[in-house]
Amino acid sequence: MRLIRQCIYCNTLIPADRKSSAHYCSDACYYEAKKERSSRQYYSKQEFISRFNRNEQILATLFSVYQQGQVIRYNLLDQLKFDWGISDGELQDSQLNVWKAIGKYCYLLNADKTISIALCNNSNQ
Ligand SMILES: [Zn+2]
Repeated sequence: MRLIRQCIYCNTLIPADRKSSAHYCSDACYYEAKKERSSRQYYSKQEFISRFNRNEQILATLFSVYQQGQVIRYNLLDQLKFDWGISDGELQDSQLNVWKAIGKYCYLLNADKTISIALCNNSNQ
């Protein structure tokens, strides 16, 4: 009796002469699967970096406006396609508000749907 195994890449049966631990029907499938995996990882990393940079750029632009006393509403960030899911950390201020950090900046979503933006210097927050 022998175990019938399928290639996890192309679903064809794995030839009996391959190692019992083999997950692929051939070396070709193994390499194809590996190639796809690494390009997917590369893509998602690049995607993250470009979204992150765009977010930081948006904050940089709004920060100068904010410093001039202009009220920034969160729907403006939506319009600029700000990605709310991205940040590289959180910071808590003395009033226990939690700010999200993105590169040089951090922002706080206020209860009145406005945004506070500050330069984010991790050493003195
Ligand atoms: Zn295969």
